[in-house]
Amino acid sequence: MPCKSCGSLNQGTFTGEVAIHFPGLKDIDEPIVWVFPGLIVCLDCGTTEFTVPKSELRQLAKGDDAAAG
Ligand SMILES: [Zn+2]
Repeated sequence: MPCKSCGSLNQGTFTGEVAIHFPGLKDIDEPIVWVFPGLIVCLDCGTTEFTVPKSELRQLAKGDDAAAG
């Protein structure tokens, strides 16, 4: 699939580690959610795509509920 940002086909697949933080000071006690996704990096513009796995996605959704309530 071409890059969504620049249309380039010059993309590489990598693995990575991403620490997702909840924004704002009131969520400072929320733990960081670590994800280890496969990354598709556009080697022309740097746009990177990854999918958060389902289990981590639930953690993010749960944290969000806690912040809202
Ligand atoms: Zn691109």
